[in-house]
Amino acid sequence: MTYAATVSAGSGADPPRRPAGPRSGELLDRLRARTPGGPAGDPVTHVERVPARAGVTAPWPEWVPEPLRAALARQGVVTPWRHQAEAAGHAYAGRHVVIATGTASGKSLAYQLPALATLLADPRATALYLAPTKALAADQLRAVAGLDLDGVRPACYDGDTPRAERDWIRQHSRFVLTNPDMLHHGILPGHAQWSTFLRRLAFVVVDECHTYRGVFGSHVAHVLRRLRRQAARYQGVPRQAGPGSRRTPAPRGVAPAGPSDTPVFVLASATSGDPATAAERLTGLPVTAVTEDASPRGGVTFALWEPPLLPTEPGAAESVAGLDAAPVRRSALRETADLLSDAVAGGVRTLAFVRSRRGAEVIASSARRSLDEAVPGLGGRVAAYRGGYLREERRALERALLDGDLLGLASTNALELGVDLVGLDAVLICGYPGTRASLWQQAGRAGRSGQEALAVLVARDDPLDTYLVHHPEALFGRPVEATVLDPANPYVLGPQLACAAAEAPLTAADLTLFGDGAKEAVATLVAGGALRQRPTGWYWRHTGRPEVDLRGTGGSPVNVVESSTGRLLGTVDPASSHFLVHPGAVHLHQGVSYLVDELDLTDGCALVHAEEPDWSTHPRDVTSLSVVSVRSYTDAGPVGMFLGEVDVTSQVVSYQRRRIASGEVLDTRPLDLPTRELRTVAVWFTVSPESLAAAGVEVADVPGALHAAEHAAIGLLPLVATCDRWDIGGLSTANHPDTEAPTVFVYDGHPGGAGFAERAYRAAASWLTATRDAIAECACEAGCPSCVQSPKCGNGNNPLAKAEAVRVLEVVLANLPDGPPANEADR
Ligand SMILES: [Zn+2]
Ligand SMILES: [Zn+2]
Repeated sequence: MTYAATVSAGSGADPPRRPAGPRSGELLDRLRARTPGGPAGDPVTHVERVPARAGVTAPWPEWVPEPLRAALARQGVVTPWRHQAEAAGHAYAGRHVVIATGTASGKSLAYQLPALATLLADPRATALYLAPTKALAADQLRAVAGLDLDGVRPACYDGDTPRAERDWIRQHSRFVLTNPDMLHHGILPGHAQWSTFLRRLAFVVVDECHTYRGVFGSHVAHVLRRLRRQAARYQGVPRQAGPGSRRTPAPRGVAPAGPSDTPVFVLASATSGDPATAAERLTGLPVTAVTEDASPRGGVTFALWEPPLLPTEPGAAESVAGLDAAPVRRSALRETADLLSDAVAGGVRTLAFVRSRRGAEVIASSARRSLDEAVPGLGGRVAAYRGGYLREERRALERALLDGDLLGLASTNALELGVDLVGLDAVLICGYPGTRASLWQQAGRAGRSGQEALAVLVARDDPLDTYLVHHPEALFGRPVEATVLDPANPYVLGPQLACAAAEAPLTAADLTLFGDGAKEAVATLVAGGALRQRPTGWYWRHTGRPEVDLRGTGGSPVNVVESSTGRLLGTVDPASSHFLVHPGAVHLHQGVSYLVDELDLTDGCALVHAEEPDWSTHPRDVTSLSVVSVRSYTDAGPVGMFLGEVDVTSQVVSYQRRRIASGEVLDTRPLDLPTRELRTVAVWFTVSPESLAAAGVEVADVPGALHAAEHAAIGLLPLVATCDRWDIGGLSTANHPDTEAPTVFVYDGHPGGAGFAERAYRAAASWLTATRDAIAECACEAGCPSCVQSPKCGNGNNPLAKAEAVRVLEVVLANLPDGPPANEADR
């Protein structure tokens, strides 16, 4: 398909600078019209209309002082939306609150109002703002500094802050913006220097709090408890934890009676499922949620798009020895690039989201090329945008797109956090971004008030994307996912308690603050010699501080270093280092491709050089698993469903190199890496051999059936938990020594678990129903990447029995009760 044929007459060499944009329905018709017919037919599998919404304002709360109101008015905030006023009111009354509303719904105002009003009313009070990235904190600093309020002296305090300025900030700033890493590594260990600030700390703002998920989120949860502990120490109030400490609002003008667990936490989240529970897990405090978005929104036509099947070359299928020819689809990248150039040619301001940096460059350059072929010069109206650009570059691109100088932008999800780029005519999403929450955040960039916009999800060739474009009900009209974290993970809790003890000796009351499992974790630290118990509490025994990385568990992370420059590119969790950075591995970091020259396990570093080979690498491993304990189970006759601790032993033994374009295996190379042990949390189900035989699964097919079911189940797990398949491992066997039955295990890939397997267990029926449907509905003969093949299989996707996998899952689902699991064992 060439692009030239699709330029509509009249689009001309120079589209209008501020295009009105066609109505979204017409645009969609034009995009689908260019796709050739054929066996696949229409690429659009579903169209959903998301209606426009009128905004609802609320009067200014009477406690907002005039100077703040005037400063906001100067910035164009005339009157707050109802959700902003509601959340601000909770916080000002002393109730911890989370505001979870859509992209660009003005969440900042919800914490700016109570925090700044308090800082203006009490010239000693301070506030701490936490963002997941330095860039976002810098954006917020500009917003607050722009209000130019007397005596607030907002300042960023992070790794980039010059030493000379740090003292001044600690002494004088009353609105400090930082990130959890700096709080963990810098502010809390140096709490004595922050004593004045902490004593007066009235508000803690946790922005974009949905990003604190999994192991990272569990760490941040304890960093926040450490912050609460230090604030309480300097404020001289008894610490309280858990339910029962919920404060009742004080009547206006009346000081709350007695000690309170100040500071007040204000959390801002993208739309997420059950934000109150996630916020309570994150802070350890009772939190009120405000979720009803009262900001106005333009209508959006949302289309699900499955790239067409490529015509099969006669004879080509049979040439691959022994393999069934699975149908191959046009790649989502190429499809998105074509849609982007079509939209731009029609004068439509369009943003395309893609996962990798490299993907963004590919889409932009391919769209530029086809546009230039059609109309010389038109390609200049398309650019790529990704994290890693300087702020000035990003701002220039954003401005160009809003002004209409640029018509098309291909972006990584760098745009997802905070940046205020909305009001586009169309958003293209290349591949499901992993969660419905991210999907709505990205789609939320489309839609100007009073105008229809278009959003298109282009499916990649994998089980989850394929399932979703054929099951619109799984995307629309369903709540977004809950943010999953597990502060009780002993591999997080232990190191965090060590950090807390190094900051100040732990007392019995502190253990309540750190929650379930803290007693056991402290006992383990004492037994291991890290803490010493004295009558007054538990003391850190060493002179240095514990080394704890918030973004990983199980030892120090492996540093990925570019040999030629010595530049640290990033880190890899030690648990996945053998898979991701073994010698010879092609390693993608922020979308750029590197080749690993050496993995030094003693020094914990991988040496790499930048290279973009035309092959990819696929590690093969040998894994065994043993059950340590069962936390909870459902006994459903021939079927059992379990949640518990397991020990996973794995060794990466070799890797395959495969040609990227064709998937052809070039060779298999051996590796000499030690085994790794992982104690983690798993969900598993067993099915009796008799029930499998009754369902028509031959004994010889049982291993392939379980293996296929395991792959698809891992692929579909993101439907119920905010993980991606790389956070998860699996193992299936026709007879496991611990369960004495055919068993499929799915486990968290992080030591101690990250909460994903637990979510899968709680949502087992809907998770496995979607898994069965995904396999059963796939049009392939014997399994393909859209259903039961896995890109990370340690066994080279062998054996797999697709039809039998459906039968296994049907046996499980027929026996499994719908309700919640009944037999909770104590942890
Ligand atoms: Zn398939
Ligand atoms: Zn496998």
